[in-house]
Amino acid sequence: MLMKINILHAGYCTAPEHIAIHGGRWRSIHFPAMFALLRHPRFGAMLFDTGYSYHFFDETQKFPKRFYRWLTPVTLHEEDLVVNQLLAFDLRPKDITHVFISHFHADHIASLSDLGWSRFVYMPHAFRHLRNLTPSEDLKHAFLRGLIPPDFDSRSRTVDMSRSILLSEEYAPFKKGYDLLGDGSIIGVELPGHAYGQMGLFAREEDGKLFFFVADAAWLKQSIVENRPPHKITNLLFPDPEAYLETLRNLHTYHLMHPETYVIPSHCEETIRAHESALHLD
Ligand SMILES: [Zn+2]
Repeated sequence: MLMKINILHAGYCTAPEHIAIHGGRWRSIHFPAMFALLRHPRFGAMLFDTGYSYHFFDETQKFPKRFYRWLTPVTLHEEDLVVNQLLAFDLRPKDITHVFISHFHADHIASLSDLGWSRFVYMPHAFRHLRNLTPSEDLKHAFLRGLIPPDFDSRSRTVDMSRSILLSEEYAPFKKGYDLLGDGSIIGVELPGHAYGQMGLFAREEDGKLFFFVADAAWLKQSIVENRPPHKITNLLFPDPEAYLETLRNLHTYHLMHPETYVIPSHCEETIRAHESALHLD
């Protein structure tokens, strides 16, 4: 069962490069909010994450959540919205059968409430610890609760962590994965460190090309290629800085062992540009 894969993005934010990668420049760079469209012959159209949407602005109108906008100023145009970009593929929101959620930061989930028919697939511990946070803890975890649709629980199909599979050498050094659709076409792997229960995806395209979506396990491809972590200040943001470094080392090793795989960090402009079919960065 092979898929068509399109890499797109919905909006972008700006932040200094030296925060995203150790030794980076002081200038601000674009961080596109990537999402991927996965069209599967049997399961239909699915998304990996959603990028930004106008709901992000609604949710960050008032203080203290408005700080979130200051930290990462966001640019988003009407045509960038997931629902509008789907039209180019002759798809409507109701056609999206599944959304695979890497983690619950706003730039990955802002359009969930526009996708009223999808099932949500994510690792249970990615959301479990967010459920009962106080408003000030929400802010610390960069979690905008209002982005979660009211019927989220009933539409969630969390990954069954007890049913891991042993991955072949093709995925080394990653050994443990989750066959998310049961047909081997989409394999979830845990990429801990940046957020609780962060999930990356392996997905193979119809021409045999393997994609590895690594979400925010690295912000820039260069970090993976050079095993170069972000600025130390990001340790304040990550729930598990040590696990972050270990995940980055594993990605670096993976890249060296399998240079033919398309490794896609969600916010690396250079990578997104190289793969995207329709780009709206200005
Ligand atoms: Zn994130």
